[in-house]
Amino acid sequence: MSNCAVVGINWGDEGKGRMVDLLSQEYDIVVRFQGGGNAGHTVINDKGKFALHLLPSGIVRDGVVNILGNGVALDPENLLNEIGQVTEKGVSVTPENLKISDRASLLLPWHRDLDELEEQRLADKKFGSTKQGIAPFYSDKYQKKTILAGELLYPEHLKQHLKDLMEWKNLTLTKVYNAKPYTEADLDKWVDTYANKIKDFVCDTGVYLKEANKAGKKIMFEAQLGSLRDLDYGIHPYTTSSNTMAAYAPIGSGYPGAKIDTVLGIVKAYSTCVGEGPFVSEMFGEEAEALRKEGDEYGAKTGRPRRVGAMDIVATRYGVEVQAATEIALTKLDVLSYMDKIPVCTHYEVDGQKTDRFPFPVALDYAKPVIEYFDGWKCDISGVKKWEDLPEAARNYVLFIEKQIDCPITYVSVGPERDSIIVRKDGK
Ligand code: GDP
Repeated sequence: MSNCAVVGINWGDEGKGRMVDLLSQEYDIVVRFQGGGNAGHTVINDKGKFALHLLPSGIVRDGVVNILGNGVALDPENLLNEIGQVTEKGVSVTPENLKISDRASLLLPWHRDLDELEEQRLADKKFGSTKQGIAPFYSDKYQKKTILAGELLYPEHLKQHLKDLMEWKNLTLTKVYNAKPYTEADLDKWVDTYANKIKDFVCDTGVYLKEANKAGKKIMFEAQLGSLRDLDYGIHPYTTSSNTMAAYAPIGSGYPGAKIDTVLGIVKAYSTCVGEGPFVSEMFGEEAEALRKEGDEYGAKTGRPRRVGAMDIVATRYGVEVQAATEIALTKLDVLSYMDKIPVCTHYEVDGQKTDRFPFPVALDYAKPVIEYFDGWKCDISGVKKWEDLPEAARNYVLFIEKQIDCPITYVSVGPERDSIIVRKDGK
């Protein structure tokens, strides 16, 4: 079995965690390679229900080694909370099954403050940030104004480096935002309470991955969010601040030479989007409320109601293309069982022209959805395990999407539980 990247094709929340949990039985290592604790992966299995944020979804499977690569936004406070939460449910997290790259940058206490302060300043022009400090973190990372996890192993150097960063950051806090400055005592406390407690997990994960690969171990790369939130290829500026692309996985994992054989793109059977930004196939009113309720579309991190809409073929095809997905898992098909007619956005109309190409982000504001309706199946499909046992209308819906996005749909998920899955290889 080959190395695989599991990535989101749309706006995120497609069900990546659920697929990583299912497929991790075939893998030795799961690596998170980008993003922070600003979104959630929900996993339901024999150990219970888990809302994972930064921990790789392989953490809930015994025998899997989990890695937080250098590309992640490593927030020690959130990570420790999360470790506490999964430990309470009987999952053991040790340096044996969790390894943190010594080159991962640390999300510092002021990043969260700055996120909040900037959203307040933007008022009605806000980006819809989850206020976890991700954008200020990545900005500072690219300015080389963060601390690497490996620096925790050098306490004297760490103290001086943090002090230097604090003096610089206090200028922004006090002079730009009129906010309270940090003190050295604040930072000492942060180091003692949080940062020092993750020290034992820190190592050179690049060396670990290379050696594991040489020894024939199978690696799965897990992304956060989806193509349309990618910093370079997404709906700028309503993107996240990192690259959600499979192509970034080797770099963000610490193993730039890693070969990825399979890119499994996760697509939801309808669309959802958290936060601000253009969303062409969005539904409103009662129609939206019904789908939101049926799909339980409330953010795993924030509890915010997700915006919902019809399956967007234009955006999905684009997502498949930029991820270079080799196969697709279509999730939450069961959620559509209540619909008489299922809407699908097949094209956009931009400036009076019908198009099937995903346009430049600014043009999305002017794009209107062209909707086609498919027959619903109106029965419970959540227990179906075989492709041929799906109602014909459900199969037609899946086949239409597959044809439009030009990528094989090899998994159809019909429920959140580990085994609520139809495996469809060779179109059967
Ligand atoms: P991720 O961030 O991509 O991992 O996705 P989230 O965990 O934020 O959102 C997916 C949600 O859908 C979770 O609550 C899952 O338990 C749930 N889910 C995943 N697959 C299915 C499915 O096929 N059917 C149903 N009903 N729920 C699903």
